Amino acid sequence: MSMKDYEFWFVVGSQFLYGPEVLETVAARAQEMTDKLNASGALPCKLVYKVTAKTNKEITDVVREANYDPHCAGIITWCHTFSPSKMWINGLASLQKPWCHFATQYNREIPNEEIDMDFMNLNQAAHGDREHGFIGARLRAPRKIIAGYWQDEDVQKRLGDWMRAAVGVAVSKDLKVMRFGDNMREVAVTEGDKVEVQIKLGWQVNTWPVGQLVDTMNAVTDAEIDELMEVYRANYDFATDDLETVRYQAREEIAMKKMMDAEGCKAFSNTFQDLYGMDQLPGLASQHLMAQGYGYGGEGDWKVAAMTTILKAMSEGQTGGTAFMEDYTYHLVKGNEYSLGAHMLEVCPSVAAERPRIEVHPLGIGDRQPPARLVFEGHEGDAIVVSLIDMGGRLRLICQDIHCVKPIMEMPNLPVARVMWQAEPSLTTGVECWITAGGAHHTVLSYDVTAEQMRDWARMMDIEFVHINKDTTVEGLEKELFLSDLAWKLK
Ligand code: MN
Repeated sequence: MSMKDYEFWFVVGSQFLYGPEVLETVAARAQEMTDKLNASGALPCKLVYKVTAKTNKEITDVVREANYDPHCAGIITWCHTFSPSKMWINGLASLQKPWCHFATQYNREIPNEEIDMDFMNLNQAAHGDREHGFIGARLRAPRKIIAGYWQDEDVQKRLGDWMRAAVGVAVSKDLKVMRFGDNMREVAVTEGDKVEVQIKLGWQVNTWPVGQLVDTMNAVTDAEIDELMEVYRANYDFATDDLETVRYQAREEIAMKKMMDAEGCKAFSNTFQDLYGMDQLPGLASQHLMAQGYGYGGEGDWKVAAMTTILKAMSEGQTGGTAFMEDYTYHLVKGNEYSLGAHMLEVCPSVAAERPRIEVHPLGIGDRQPPARLVFEGHEGDAIVVSLIDMGGRLRLICQDIHCVKPIMEMPNLPVARVMWQAEPSLTTGVECWITAGGAHHTVLSYDVTAEQMRDWARMMDIEFVHINKDTTVEGLEKELFLSDLAWKLK
């Protein structure tokens, strides 16, 4: 399912106390708000007004329906009037979908002349939403709270951003990852408990033999390769005459895509240490699969592969780009400090500043033939890098704010795609924080997904979230990690 296939349900709280006229007004306004929010263009998914709930049963019924409807990616609640919250306990306690409490109000202004007790009884979100908030807190329910006027652009944008994070939850719970071979030997951070991850995040992480991939590659026809070569030509410049090498990448891409599509997988990992029967490490092949929304992780890193898929799904339709990334090397000139991100081959061209070039170069690592890959520079702009690590019995999501720049030198002999960035709070303090938290060398870099969205996602998935930003200090972070380690052990 893509972004537009998901919908969110608007559930408005009330009670019978106010009489039918008030309830009719509430329902009509809820429908009007839904229509206007849908027409605003700020929401990536459709909002559906479901019910003005007045009883325990109405709430339980709509939650049950939401839990079972695969198109419903979450509910958004709001209390136009006062809605006693004991009515909500049974429903919210059984809610299995993301929840946003939208603390808004139908009218923007308090009407000076018009205001009387009838007006007050109809427009009492200010205390209705507090009663509603209490029960969320009392249930320790993970919820997003957005307060503000519903017609304001910034408020609508926050609602839309949360919807994208909630779609990330739906995608996560349905995600299948195809591993070709195991993880790179001896590497620790790319390991993880696949059972725990499935329980917590829903991911189905399984392995398929490289031999089956080779068989599938051998069955790819010349006509299929011709067709994909046309797609490459339409999107990339050929900076090589070695078309056979490029065609081999096309063969690999078609075979990997066939195997993933047959299993319903949206992410994959492989390793240069297990390419038995393959002539090239997939480079261009993996890059072009990522451009189509498949997540990838190098060296068997299935966690980053899955996260790449999720961030790509969250940012569907946005244009900044999201890529598998690796911190490679630093520029440590005082006052002019940068991290250079790249990979052996596989950076997604969605982050490219210019039209990527297909080049063929030998690979310094491994024992295969020189692979074709896309080479480009990442574009300028604010972004985040995200890493999910397994702390033993639980997961930690680490997110850092970065600012990507046009690389400050040309690096004409670097044969891979590259992105250069400044990190918050500074490169070196950022590195100290990242290392303190245990963040991996592999990340997902996204210009589209925000730290707030990743925090929302982590809250909905019930995992720890660490945000390294302009205000982070090593001392403060150490304290935060120490306390959260205790808290997560108790949870
Ligand atoms: Mn790597």
